[in-house]
Amino acid sequence: MTLPVYLDNHATTRVDPRALGAMLPFFAEDYGNAASKQHAFGWRAEAAVELARRQVASLVGASPDEVIFTSGATESVNLALKGVVTAAPAERNHVITAATEHRAVLDTCSSLARAGLDVTVIPVDRFGLVDPDDVRRSITSKTILVSIMAANNEIGTVSAFEEIGRICRDHEVPYHTDATQAAGKIPLRAATADLLSLSAHKMYGPKGIGALVIRARRPPVRLVPLLEGGGHERGLRSGTLNVPAIVGFGVAAEIAVNEMATESGRISGLRDRLIGGLLEALDEVRVNGHPESRLPNNASLLFPGANADRVMMSMKDIAVSSGSACSSALPGPSHVLQAIGLSGEESLCTIRFGLGRFTTPEEIEYAIGRVAEAVRQTRAAQRLTVMEQT
Ligand SMILES: *Cc1c(COP(=O)(O)O)cnc(C)c1O
Repeated sequence: MTLPVYLDNHATTRVDPRALGAMLPFFAEDYGNAASKQHAFGWRAEAAVELARRQVASLVGASPDEVIFTSGATESVNLALKGVVTAAPAERNHVITAATEHRAVLDTCSSLARAGLDVTVIPVDRFGLVDPDDVRRSITSKTILVSIMAANNEIGTVSAFEEIGRICRDHEVPYHTDATQAAGKIPLRAATADLLSLSAHKMYGPKGIGALVIRARRPPVRLVPLLEGGGHERGLRSGTLNVPAIVGFGVAAEIAVNEMATESGRISGLRDRLIGGLLEALDEVRVNGHPESRLPNNASLLFPGANADRVMMSMKDIAVSSGSACSSALPGPSHVLQAIGLSGEESLCTIRFGLGRFTTPEEIEYAIGRVAEAVRQTRAAQRLTVMEQT
């Protein structure tokens, strides 16, 4: 076992060696521009991109021409939301989203709201679930788009995205889902979303590459591109394609298709052992998120009386993240934890564990010991401070 132990796989994941191996020739030998139609360098690059497009499509049960490569989920979300809103007829002015979305979605919605759009932010229950009936009730004749994530990046709750998709379809409103955390972890083939945002680096591919999957439907979802230039990606995302990253993304998607079922069983076993071990070792531990409808690799744990940042400071050989720093640019308690009803204090006592493909049983046993020790120490130190103050 090598230290530190990486348990922050919601933030990013290690590139799978198979994906890395497939990428390398596209830096050094096959470095052509996939848009160069006149020579073999271009043809080889284009063939590699089209293979990757098929691999990514098959992860979500889409057809290859429905996949638009972007720089990552943040760009995909921006393209989906701003692109669809900009293309909508002027008399429509309403977007629906949920309180626990990633900042990529919430900040884009705030920017749309500043530009005059009506945004409905649906609250969640204490498990982080959006009630599909709330979506149904929020849709009006002015609704342009519904954007509700497939799985949450902090608490791991898997939404009722299929049912929400059916409701949107019944009302003929396009449905976007941020599937960044769900892709490769849970089956998405049956996802009834019209638009899906994906990111390679959350599923053992490289950073800086993602996709927006735009389902063919009747009537088609219209969207205006964010970037204009050479007309790449069916005119929806101009700019020379990042061929090595796209190749790595493709291989990562193919591995996910082949290994998701066995891998998620192994990882959820380790996750359950982590939770069980900490529950045994410590007096008070609360598990955030939904008890069943959840990602296999997530454990969001609340340790009352132990400030998460202080706990993390005293176990520098365990890489996790706290309920405060999820969007590291923004200090203060996480909006997701507040949305499920935690107080600011409780949020700041929450640690997110994200297990992954490369997590071993030894690492989990080590983490249980270190975390339990660090929480006990922090609790004792905080009790002492309280006593000194009173
Ligand atoms: C990481 C993440 C994003 C942003 O993805 P990038 O590819 O890093 O831009 C968006 N949504 C969710 C749910 C995420 O976890």
